[in-house]
Amino acid sequence: MGPGQKALLAQLPHDWYVKLGFRKEAGQAIEGLHIGKKIAKKIKKTRGARLMGPSNFLNQITQTLTGGVVGKEWMLILDWVFKNKLVFEDGVPLLQAQPLRCEPRLAVPFEQKDLPKESVGLFDHMVAIDLGEREIGYAVFSVKDILQTGEVTPIIDPLTQQAANGAISIAGVRVLINDVKGHRSNQSTNSKLSQNFNTRLEKLRNSVASEVVQKIEALCARFNAFPVLESSVVNFQTGSRQLDLVYGDVVRHFVMLDPTKAHIDARKEHWMGAEMWKHPYLMARPFDRPTRKRTGKPVPLNLFPGAGVHPAETSKKCTKCGRNGLLVLRDLGEKVQVMDGGLLETPDGQLRLMSGWAYAEADFKRARRDKRNLPMNKPLAAGQYNQAAIHRFGKQTNRQKAFDMRSSGSSQSRFQCLFADCMATYHADAGAAINIGRKFFTDKIAWEESRLKAGVR
Ligand SMILES: [Zn+2]
Repeated sequence: MGPGQKALLAQLPHDWYVKLGFRKEAGQAIEGLHIGKKIAKKIKKTRGARLMGPSNFLNQITQTLTGGVVGKEWMLILDWVFKNKLVFEDGVPLLQAQPLRCEPRLAVPFEQKDLPKESVGLFDHMVAIDLGEREIGYAVFSVKDILQTGEVTPIIDPLTQQAANGAISIAGVRVLINDVKGHRSNQSTNSKLSQNFNTRLEKLRNSVASEVVQKIEALCARFNAFPVLESSVVNFQTGSRQLDLVYGDVVRHFVMLDPTKAHIDARKEHWMGAEMWKHPYLMARPFDRPTRKRTGKPVPLNLFPGAGVHPAETSKKCTKCGRNGLLVLRDLGEKVQVMDGGLLETPDGQLRLMSGWAYAEADFKRARRDKRNLPMNKPLAAGQYNQAAIHRFGKQTNRQKAFDMRSSGSSQSRFQCLFADCMATYHADAGAAINIGRKFFTDKIAWEESRLKAGVR
């Protein structure tokens, strides 16, 4: 059989059977083609057992066509099912058993002859994840490109031809938050009710956590990437403690957070027995607890299978200019002078603050019709402001509503850079993901040693 025929057979819809070969007529009647050195010309009738299982198992069997996988000796397992009853006769317990049926099963082992030759490439990409209040932001990077260029910029998604950077909504998060809100507004003194609520909440949390884990795994699978997550989850405004618990659970799936036995065991089970991977060429500086610094001789980066990074400032820094407008604003002192156009002088550059919306009625109408939120455009009036007031306007300008009214983001899902010479605006969680990727590289990675090991100059 030629390689073309083999490839064709692998592509065609097919089923796999094992011919049982008993003297008695056991098994299902099968009609099929016998495939040996050559394909049989005639359809053969026989009796056997159909092989069933998950598609990756069946795909493995299909590889027997190309010789990558070989079938080993199969085993017939007969499970006898009994109906039993415990009776007492003169005070003596007696077990009565009656055979009901016999369930045959077939165990067919397969052996993978040679491992796939092309490298999996899982370590060449990383996906940075920001766990946001309503959505999760993601940014995909090429590790080798970063080492080569020194720039931590998301790759172009081959599917969409756009930057592999965005946000995904998690339906469960909204359900969870609404549930908590509903319960708060409906506080009951009935302990039975609140007990039921707590049980329900725990179930909901577990299901939201697995939804998030699944989405992150899907991103990793799609981009063939390992995940980088924030190592500690900040306190959220809306979902409060519940969302913290969910995200803590999510992070523990990918990152070594608190090495308690229960968490290690749970992770090991999730990753089918594996615990830790070493990156083939990324080198990290070990964390020194007493000095709280990354010093010392770089070692291969450990993955669990993800890596963690401290999220400080990742949601506040502008991805375009790298500055944190709110931080600059805070350092201006108690009294702040605002000039015309909402402009403020700072040592890091001019800031522009807004105080509201000043659009023509027609613009508002059009935006409503297009289901779009308009950005703030009314500059803060000139004058002197105290620190608290200026900070409030800064925050309002810095985080605004999503452009799209139908977006599932929170009322603060759009980031707006405060610097007048930048004014970058983007999805806040998507931007935070870029910053998480950048922070991972600047905080953890020993660039020169990694470049050397990766063979990148
Ligand atoms: Zn900026």
